[in-house]
Amino acid sequence: MKHHQPDLDTSPEVSDEIRKTTCYMCACRCGIDVHMKDGKVKYIEGNRDHPINKGVLCAKGSAGIMQHYSPARLQAPMKRVGPRGEGKFETISWDEAFDIAEKWLKPIREKAPHKLAFFTGRDQSQSLTSFWAQQFGTPNYAAHGGFCSVNMAAAGIYTMGGAFWEFGVPDWDRTKMFMIFGVAEDHDSNPIKMGLSKLKERGAKIVGINPVRSGYNAIADEWVGITPGTDGLFVLAMIHVLLKAGKVDLEYLMRYTNAPMLVNIDEGSDEHGLLLRDVKGQFMVQDRITGKPAAFDKKGVKPVFTGTITYRGTQYTPVFELMTEKYLSDDYAPEAVAERCGISAKTIRRLAAELAHVAFEQEITIDQPWTDWKGEKHAVMTGRPVSFHAMRGISAHSNGFQTCRAIHLLQILLGSVEVPGGMRFKPPYPKPVGIHPTPHSYATPGGPLNGPHLGFPTGPEDLALNASGTPIRIDKAFTWENPLSAHGMMHMVISNAHAGDPYKIDTLFMYMANMSWNSSMNSRGVMDMLTDKDEDGNYVIPNIIYSDAYSSEMVAFADLILPDTTYLERHDCISLLDRPISEADAICDSIRWPVVEPDRDVRGFQTALIQLGAKLGLPGFVNEDGSEKYKDYADYIVNHERRPGVGPLAGFRGKDGTGKGRGEPNPAQIDKYIENGGFWQEHIPDEALFYKPWNMAYQNWAVERGIFDKPSPYLFSIYVEPIQKFRLAAQGKGELQPPDHLRKQLIDAMDPLPIWWAPFEEQSVDCDEYPLHALTQRPAAMYHSWGSQNAWLRQIHGTNPLYISSQVWAKHRFKEGDWAYLTSHHGRIKIPVVRMDALNPKTVWTWNAIGKRKGAWALDKNAPEATKGFLLNHLIHELLPPKGDGLRWSNSDPITGQAAWYDLRVKIEKAPTEEGISQPETAAQTSPVGQGPKDIAYGEEF
Ligand code: SF4
Repeated sequence: MKHHQPDLDTSPEVSDEIRKTTCYMCACRCGIDVHMKDGKVKYIEGNRDHPINKGVLCAKGSAGIMQHYSPARLQAPMKRVGPRGEGKFETISWDEAFDIAEKWLKPIREKAPHKLAFFTGRDQSQSLTSFWAQQFGTPNYAAHGGFCSVNMAAAGIYTMGGAFWEFGVPDWDRTKMFMIFGVAEDHDSNPIKMGLSKLKERGAKIVGINPVRSGYNAIADEWVGITPGTDGLFVLAMIHVLLKAGKVDLEYLMRYTNAPMLVNIDEGSDEHGLLLRDVKGQFMVQDRITGKPAAFDKKGVKPVFTGTITYRGTQYTPVFELMTEKYLSDDYAPEAVAERCGISAKTIRRLAAELAHVAFEQEITIDQPWTDWKGEKHAVMTGRPVSFHAMRGISAHSNGFQTCRAIHLLQILLGSVEVPGGMRFKPPYPKPVGIHPTPHSYATPGGPLNGPHLGFPTGPEDLALNASGTPIRIDKAFTWENPLSAHGMMHMVISNAHAGDPYKIDTLFMYMANMSWNSSMNSRGVMDMLTDKDEDGNYVIPNIIYSDAYSSEMVAFADLILPDTTYLERHDCISLLDRPISEADAICDSIRWPVVEPDRDVRGFQTALIQLGAKLGLPGFVNEDGSEKYKDYADYIVNHERRPGVGPLAGFRGKDGTGKGRGEPNPAQIDKYIENGGFWQEHIPDEALFYKPWNMAYQNWAVERGIFDKPSPYLFSIYVEPIQKFRLAAQGKGELQPPDHLRKQLIDAMDPLPIWWAPFEEQSVDCDEYPLHALTQRPAAMYHSWGSQNAWLRQIHGTNPLYISSQVWAKHRFKEGDWAYLTSHHGRIKIPVVRMDALNPKTVWTWNAIGKRKGAWALDKNAPEATKGFLLNHLIHELLPPKGDGLRWSNSDPITGQAAWYDLRVKIEKAPTEEGISQPETAAQTSPVGQGPKDIAYGEEF
């Protein structure tokens, strides 16, 4: 019988042109090739020449085409016509939109700039948005870090000048043992996957520390199903074991950390707990030869690590002595913490021993001479091939800051930071805390703020407090309640503005932040605050301006909508002034550019912001004659200079385009980036590749590239002195004093050495009544709420059951298809349940931000996201339950104010299955963009 092959075109022509830009389906910023046909986007693939993803593309990245053509895209500027929250709008022109914004904002700026609260979500243009807010003059600006991972970022900066992900990365090519703590799959997505595959190829050991064995943890060689909120205790127990066994890198500690520095241990002294300095302000150690204090960097000085010394009538001891005394305590013995952590003492001891074995018995050496900042020459680069990575699962607890510090301390004790095989920084990091700004908050009506809003306080004098001690900022960042809130506290803005505490505001201006739904605790309460009216019938928050590309749940709560473009229609700049795409071996930044022009009346938010800035006459956005300084964001990217010769993009600077990091603006700069695939990179010289904080070749190279203006070598801070300054104040020392009700919290929390305390919600509720921990995880296929309206990605996660452990499943006699009530101290939800065995037995969890409100995102009102999907947010409150002391305490980390999402405690019970609709059922919003078609076919409509 004759067989006829079907007539298939196995290599159809996909496109007539490829345009190279940067993905924005998550924050990893991979390079993409966008295939165009007849001027339309047809297909997206990874850019094989790109330094970040080298051609790798994830499901989200390829589904960018569905994001671009989404029916949920906003079409034009709009003003609200119905009641707030309902979703009824009238389309207006950009001129009218800017006129409305000007009418609200101009009088505020002239009289009381703090009445504007300007907060942005997960955008990538914070160097522009913060500059704009500074020029406006409001102290009320921040991005979303306070409810995301500020604990991780701040702990890293204070301890060692950088943290994970956007600041640092494991040495994937050399690490032999890798521990990953509290990481879900969506942050640093492709780079981590590529790194893990390198480790697998080389047979390196991967240990996943996570209550849930999903994603990266599923491919770990060993999964440690820790109980949520106990990571700090687990890490400090490993430190206990290592110190007891003498398995710490003393040479590393002596050279690169403040371990030998002398600390004042005289409890009566006004400087108790502060470090001893000489007359030049240099830290002092006890010299082993003379037995006397000496500047730590004096030639020939060899410091001692233990004992006490009396100097000018005061007793001092090295940081190392304080540290060993603390962690050798039986409180940190594995046997003392095992039950609480849900990890056996044997496992803790074994993992500590494995870390020590790899670090000290499998040392690696690179034949590369280098010179340190003291001028000492080293013949080789030596490394301890152990590395860690951690993220939001560690951060989003009320003990998150100190837990992150504990992880960094463990890395440092093993001598595995900025060495071959260890964790490495990505330029412009590392940066010592001292060269970051301190926070600025003094507003002058009609003028700019006195400096950048966000920064790293060095003591109580840097808090954002009025002379009367009241908070200057609406979110109460940088106050005694949250002294080191380095990223601001966006999650407190709406509730504080609604309460008028510390004051009422006039206009809330937000970008890309779904605060009425999945980005807030207590979502129902936030919706009520946004729609609440005063006794005169006016909204308590009078004006709300919101910008988004899509019809998210938040859109319905705005009075004025500035519609953003999709990421394929805009200019963007992933800048060294912000969080660039650098790798440990190379400095890199990148752009997005309009690979396709918008077919709607929308503008990139950054362009709209620049144009609004010019209309308001903000300095920095107008010329001397009052004309607009920049036409749009592309013009700003090329011509704005933050310091002479240093601008948003580091590549192709100068008239001839050869400047690297420094150089005058180059009018052809964006064209050069496009020609180069949308990015710029330069490799770090070989002699500068490791030991960056102490390596003079790196320091000098960083100055040449505009990262620093002068070499800025520094030591890692095992002991963080600025933290001790707050504790001293709480003990009654110094002029600036906290209110009495916060003294105990400050004394307990502000420990200059990492400590652990039980999560606050656990301390506040009856844990017998609420025996379970409840978490959300980020799926690999979604990023925040962005993906769950995407026609392709919805097919991966169209709904989100609650996953419960086999122990809880059996105890409650659940069976397949069952529903449950999940109850916290704040609320009750009804949800579908599914059994999962690879789960900490005391934990339940679900995917984050899949549940949608009916009417939002152009989805069908009966879409599974709106009927079966749900949010844990309804169970979480921004305040802890009353303690009976007459005060309401914040559900956040007491050091940084980071939202404690993962402290949630719940109970579970069976629910009737009949209706099969998740609760609470929130009434439908009117969709300002209508509803998407039933079927989206890849065809004519594209
Ligand atoms: S990891 Fe993120 S940036 Fe990279 S392709 Fe996937 S969605 Fe895009």
